[in-house]
Amino acid sequence: ILDQWFESEPLKATLATDAVIGAMTSPHTPGSGYVLLHHVMGQLDGRRGAWGYVAGGMGALSQAIASAAAARGAHIFTEKAVCHVLLGKGGRAQGVVLQDGTEVRSKLVLSNASPQITFLELTPQEELPKDFVQRIQQVDTRSPVTKINVAVDRLPSFLAAPNTRDGRPLPHHQCSIHLNCEGTHLLHQAFTEAAHGHPSSRPMIELCIPSALDPGLAPQGCHVVSLFTQYTPSVLAGGRPWDEQARNTYADTVFDCIEAYAPGFKASVVGRD
Ligand SMILES: Cc1cc2nc3c(=O)[nH]c(=O)nc-3n(C[C@H](O)[C@H](O)[C@H](O)COP(=O)(O)OP(=O)(O)OC[C@H]3O[C@@H](n4cnc5c(N)ncnc54)[C@H](O)[C@@H]3O)c2cc1C
Repeated sequence: ILDQWFESEPLKATLATDAVIGAMTSPHTPGSGYVLLHHVMGQLDGRRGAWGYVAGGMGALSQAIASAAAARGAHIFTEKAVCHVLLGKGGRAQGVVLQDGTEVRSKLVLSNASPQITFLELTPQEELPKDFVQRIQQVDTRSPVTKINVAVDRLPSFLAAPNTRDGRPLPHHQCSIHLNCEGTHLLHQAFTEAAHGHPSSRPMIELCIPSALDPGLAPQGCHVVSLFTQYTPSVLAGGRPWDEQARNTYADTVFDCIEAYAPGFKASVVGRD
């Protein structure tokens, strides 16, 4: 699809990131065109394909939903894990039992836990149609994404567009910044490594700096950097565990890549998660 519309390889590769983001696919994988459509079909403030930041960080969105619900009489309980869904006659949901043993009766149960948790762990299996359970078991939710949240003590300065002396955010700091996406072959190569069980040696990186637009997220002069990276295989080659060492090695690879585009990035890191 991109080849039909564009000539520039860096542009095609950057757009191709939306064809693979969050999916264990290469831009060459049939069906990746749908993933691209999925990511550009939305709109924000009437602008098609636009994405935005939630003012106050993602937590502000949950808080807004929570306060809207509370204003309409909802009671919210946190740290109350559900153990199972109570079913009555004919398999009708009648409430839930919490892990602490409390029973909560209701006419309706809505679950926003994943379909696997909801139907394979929380609902008595014998009450569900066998073919439905099988279909839930077959849903493939493996993700190649590793998200890294970083706190930095200065704004990254990219070789391609160095910071000004006053260190104020430039237009590109307020957008999503795509690294290791100069050519579609790089995305394919990063995917292929992960398909063989190895984290990409040159991962696809989408870097956002929400504090460039929302300064309240970090102390003055400091910033929060959100790194959406792939590909990390869910199962490592040779059955190696995704332990602290493996996670840190991958994070170091990502940081080395960013350092090549924005020298000084690694020295600016105050913390990472
Ligand atoms: C890496 C990544 C990046 C993303 N980026 C974006 C983005 O930029 N923009 C965007 O719009 N969307 C993004 N998404 C998608 C977005 O995060 C999800 O669509 C959204 O979080 C779904 O919300 P939810 O409340 O339905 O489910 P969840 O956020 O998954 O919430 C389900 C909750 O149920 C809880 N739970 C599970 N089991 C139990 C139990 N037994 N008892 C009680 N509670 C339980 C879980 O702990 C969890 O808190 C991203 C997703 C990922 C993974």
